[in-house]
Amino acid sequence: MNKRCQCGDLQKLRLRTVIYARQVSITRVPVFCCNRCGSSEVHAGVKSDIGRLIGRLGSHPVPRIIPFDQVNELAGVLSSALENGSDDLHAVDIARAAEERTNELLDLWLIASSLKDEGWKSEIQGRLAQLSSPYISS
Ligand SMILES: [Zn+2]
Repeated sequence: MNKRCQCGDLQKLRLRTVIYARQVSITRVPVFCCNRCGSSEVHAGVKSDIGRLIGRLGSHPVPRIIPFDQVNELAGVLSSALENGSDDLHAVDIARAAEERTNELLDLWLIASSLKDEGWKSEIQGRLAQLSSPYISS
């Protein structure tokens, strides 16, 4: 999973820790990083979620660690794709992890639906929507 950097080299997709307001460590955030010029950019598919998270933390947050792969489904999928072995993120591993997670969520949705638990259902729908972003290609 690479992206062209403005310096002309390739940016590689990695999961990195982002420090917010010197207090909060947000771990496993998908970031494109360039080895050559050192520039980096948060994955477009998680930008709005990071924005919301930081908005909730406010400008004087208490020190803590937030595992982003527990908050955001795309980060979760990238995280499990990395656990499948290699150091690099490959589109095929990401697609497989996304499919597994989608099936898992659909199973949960069926349970929530049979329990008529509307709150749970809409939470799962929100998570499924994070996975159906155009950023996961198969
Ligand atoms: Zn660069």
